[in-house]
Amino acid sequence: MPANFYARWRARCGVVSVLHEDSESLPPEYLLQAIWQHQRLLHDQLKTLDGRIVRVLHPGFANHEAGPDFRGALVQIDDEPPRTGDVEVDLHASGWRAHHHEGNPTFQNVILHVIWDSARPAAVKIPTLPLCRLLDAPLAELSSWLGREGAVSFPENLLGQCSAPLRGLTESRLMELLHQSAQVRYQSKAAQFQARARHVGWEQSFWEGLFRALGYKHNVWPMQRLTELRPRWLQPKLTPLALQARLFGISGLLPVELTRAQAASDSYLRRIWDLWWRERDEFNGCILPRELWRFHGLRPANHPQRRLALAAHWLATANILAKLENWFTADLTSTPAGLPDSLLEILQVERDDFWSWHWTFRSARLRKSQPLLGAARMTDLAVNVILPWFWARAVEGRNEKLQRVAEHRYLAWPSAEDNAVLRLARQRLLGGAPKRRVRGAAAQQGLLQIVRDFCDHSNAVCENCRFPELVREWNAAE
Ligand code: SF4
Repeated sequence: MPANFYARWRARCGVVSVLHEDSESLPPEYLLQAIWQHQRLLHDQLKTLDGRIVRVLHPGFANHEAGPDFRGALVQIDDEPPRTGDVEVDLHASGWRAHHHEGNPTFQNVILHVIWDSARPAAVKIPTLPLCRLLDAPLAELSSWLGREGAVSFPENLLGQCSAPLRGLTESRLMELLHQSAQVRYQSKAAQFQARARHVGWEQSFWEGLFRALGYKHNVWPMQRLTELRPRWLQPKLTPLALQARLFGISGLLPVELTRAQAASDSYLRRIWDLWWRERDEFNGCILPRELWRFHGLRPANHPQRRLALAAHWLATANILAKLENWFTADLTSTPAGLPDSLLEILQVERDDFWSWHWTFRSARLRKSQPLLGAARMTDLAVNVILPWFWARAVEGRNEKLQRVAEHRYLAWPSAEDNAVLRLARQRLLGGAPKRRVRGAAAQQGLLQIVRDFCDHSNAVCENCRFPELVREWNAAE
């Protein structure tokens, strides 16, 4: 096609990788992923290395976290029933072993291994699909059109079936719908607190919720178990250091070896061991196995060692719950922008000689000290734990005024950090709407609830999903 100034400039500036057809070189892996995502393939000719016919009913959704490249694909092989699962894209079949996918639990749902060439047969049982002779256009042309970010952009034909009716909602009706679904979400969290409080009391249920949230999505269960043991390990007047020693010891996260390279880490570890070895026998029956914890794909700031160090400070502050109650009942309605700051003031730890400077026991000293609690994690704690817990208590005490306070703060809370589930939901449901269209933490929570209620029970082609119908009814009821 004739190239205009923009097209030439785009190629010259490296917006796209220019590949030549006579080139012997392999396509970059991101291009192969983009080809898969956009299905730029000869669909009726797809065959696995062992000759079985492949029908791609849905390519799945690009995964930007650890694990396979695409999640939730729908694929039929020969005349077997269609299967939902993950797809991994590698240049060569040997990549499966070379990248240690075999035996890795995050790859156990892979149903198709997509590769470029078929030079070497796959030595794995997963059906393997080579693409090099099955593109619907020359590689150079695909490279030019799909560009560098091909796999990031979302093809129009992969939008969810609800995206059309959702597009018909005005901004305020969409927010209203998201807020209603958010309300369902926090009420269900509150009901969980209420149920747990009946058995273990409000305070224990609060700490369990807080620890679970500190476990982030990777380590919810060991954190839950650790707090269930709280009545055993918590005693009044323990210092943060003594509590850190107990929590590290009981969690099974205390290293047994010194680094022998970092003096500050070794000195801190010695102080912790000095405390822990004396009381280890007392807790012998409840020490968690280290294998319970997951570290793969964790950001350093979310490492459970660092989270436990933070929790030790909170637990050593005798009146932290009273402070939170004062915060909750104080009149902050005229300063909604100050809501997060006012909570952070209570939950932030001034400084910790070791943990303000290290992500983990073994990491090198940071150049700049880092707060133990960031604004993003604090928002998660507010919308997932603190406000639903206060709301549940207000319901239990039949205090409507405090219920309204909890609801108002929930709806006024600024947006949390973006994440992969929200990004995908904005693409599938809202046609790639920018972050600002889902304004505030409550709207984000509402979107997550819709994913949980509908997308998680359907498949990539939205089979049997009733949400589009719900949106149409909601629109008609205006
Ligand atoms: S499964 Fe339902 S809610 Fe999810 S994208 Fe499809 S139509 Fe929308």
